Amino acid sequence: MARDWLKGAKQNYDTIVIGSGLGGMTSANLLAKLGHNVLLAEHHYNLGGMATWFKRKGGHVLDISLHGFPIGMIKTFRKYWSKDMADRVIQLKNIRFDNPQFSVNTTFDRVDFTDLLENHFGIMKEVIDEFFNTVREMNFYDEIKISTRDLFERFFPGRKDVWRFLMEPITYANGSTLDDPALTYGIVFSNFMSKGVFTYQGGTDQLIKEMKHEMESNGVDIRTHCLVEKIYVEDGKVKGVRINGRDIECKTVLSNANITTTIQHLVGEEHFKPEFVDEAQKVRLNTSSCQVYMGIKRGEKIDYDGDLLFSSVADEYDTDKILAKDVTSRTFSFYHPFIRPGGNRYSIVSSTNARYEDWSNLSESEYLREKEDLIQTTLDALEKYVPDIRKVADYFEAATPATFKRYTLHPKGTSFGTKFEGLKVSRELPNQIQGLFHTGSVGIIMSGWLGAANYGVIVSNEVDKLLRSLNTEASMVVTSA
Ligand SMILES: Cc1cc2nc3c(=O)[nH]c(=O)nc-3n(C[C@H](O)[C@H](O)[C@H](O)COP(=O)(O)OP(=O)(O)OC[C@H]3O[C@@H](n4cnc5c(N)ncnc54)[C@H](O)[C@@H]3O)c2cc1C
Repeated sequence: MARDWLKGAKQNYDTIVIGSGLGGMTSANLLAKLGHNVLLAEHHYNLGGMATWFKRKGGHVLDISLHGFPIGMIKTFRKYWSKDMADRVIQLKNIRFDNPQFSVNTTFDRVDFTDLLENHFGIMKEVIDEFFNTVREMNFYDEIKISTRDLFERFFPGRKDVWRFLMEPITYANGSTLDDPALTYGIVFSNFMSKGVFTYQGGTDQLIKEMKHEMESNGVDIRTHCLVEKIYVEDGKVKGVRINGRDIECKTVLSNANITTTIQHLVGEEHFKPEFVDEAQKVRLNTSSCQVYMGIKRGEKIDYDGDLLFSSVADEYDTDKILAKDVTSRTFSFYHPFIRPGGNRYSIVSSTNARYEDWSNLSESEYLREKEDLIQTTLDALEKYVPDIRKVADYFEAATPATFKRYTLHPKGTSFGTKFEGLKVSRELPNQIQGLFHTGSVGIIMSGWLGAANYGVIVSNEVDKLLRSLNTEASMVVTSA
């Protein structure tokens, strides 16, 4: 008989969180801490969503999205998770760019970028300072006025090398392009510039283990292998959900599934106002990713001291080229033994932005062939930096947009949620249906580890407010009766 993954679950919860991405888990944890009764339902066998890892024979542990996040993650861990997690955040100090326009090393913070912009790229200090001050003042309540292209045109006209230096890492970090609103660039760029790029010592497996422990100790009912199939709505209010064929009631639902999936499939468009449905249909998904994972043999090491390498053979920054199946730009993450102390193991992950369409229409044999080609061309590119990579590595695997779709259920395997308009639609859900909320990668700026976790905090405070007002209403009815 099939195992009942909901065995022992209650018939009624204050909140059901759909999905255990960093947004979903941060919300579930906070709501449970605030005293609410929370069920977290995740369809996959692991928690974490995109924040995940996998293990392979030979002692290999490969991380998917642990490449770097801004310092703000320390505060988020300390305030909403635990001090222990905050204490594990460490800085990556050696970040490199190598492309036909320039080759530089940086600590990826404002001081070092200012120095490089002034002394390597020859930009006047006053212009650099004004640029940094302008982007630092951008915040998510701002009206969208200009695109990133307009911003660069204003400060660095015609300087495509500077545009590339400022933009290429952010395209990797949140999928944004020159044509997206400048604030989607400015917020993320300024977050990194404040102190540099950070990572989690212990790896993603350690982080998710800690998060699970923390959620359990706060009373979250965590259920993996649990696919939410439907969100029930009656008279404009959330009533419950169907999970693995079983109906469970709740006062609020916080969906960490994709925003368009939540509206169109989990709830159903018929429950929303027509103008809202129109707006939601216009939300564009962000692009996806390909990755190549390389596990280094036990006892071998890599003689490359960088942590992150933004490499490209394209003449200049070009979004189409960055997304093209014929890859020209790759970000290599080098995992040295200090990431997982005690193990003395190395691994390398290459990430590229990619389009779902390039991978979704292939036959099985074509797909496998293309994946192998991706691995071999990546190794060719990496040989420039790690000449003996084919000798020291003994595990190779690739992921494509189809892989990301399969594991996270995001349409088209989108790595960074939706384009900017998705944010407004996500924020509007509770005004359409009482008790319905969304958190997770949306609008470009709410994606990434920091963006997703912080958005989880913002939305769970709104869920808490509603639950408190519903409880007050209920106790007034009892008192007056
Ligand atoms: C290749 C790659 C590299 C990245 N690198 C970085 C990086 O270096 N730094 C950084 O900060 N960010 C990075 N990111 C982005 C970052 O990982 C994500 O933005 C963030 O983890 C997303 O969190 P989320 O809350 O939006 O949820 P997601 O991670 O999208 O998780 C959603 C969860 O919901 C579950 N779910 C969906 N539908 C259902 C359903 N119906 N029932 C049950 N469960 C459901 C999914 O299985 C999933 O677990 C990277 C992403 C990718 C793909």
